[in-house]
Amino acid sequence: MDALEIEKFRKLLNETIFELKESIKYLKEASRPIEPSCALGRLTRMEAIGEKGVNEAVLSKSKARLIRLENALNRIDAGTYGICVKCKKNIPSGRLEAVPEALICINCAS
Ligand SMILES: [Zn+2]
Repeated sequence: MDALEIEKFRKLLNETIFELKESIKYLKEASRPIEPSCALGRLTRMEAIGEKGVNEAVLSKSKARLIRLENALNRIDAGTYGICVKCKKNIPSGRLEAVPEALICINCAS
């Protein structure tokens, strides 16, 4: 991967990390404990609790992805970004554009 491409993916990773952090902030708000007295409007308390469960699941997935993205940034600095950890070949940039934190190529993933 040439320097220009590396910079493109560094930017993509930083942008994805920024967006993910924003949504984590929102999800943290949304998964705070539901107070029995709080006015829920149209939602019943049961629905609110169900929604909170979904938010928590998305939140834990988002946190895990954030770690993978930050690791990918570290790999850029280490010069190992975009190299499949299994077969050591370059991961096609199309895959990295879709999944910038990808560690393995499609061949090894399937
Ligand atoms: Zn591979």
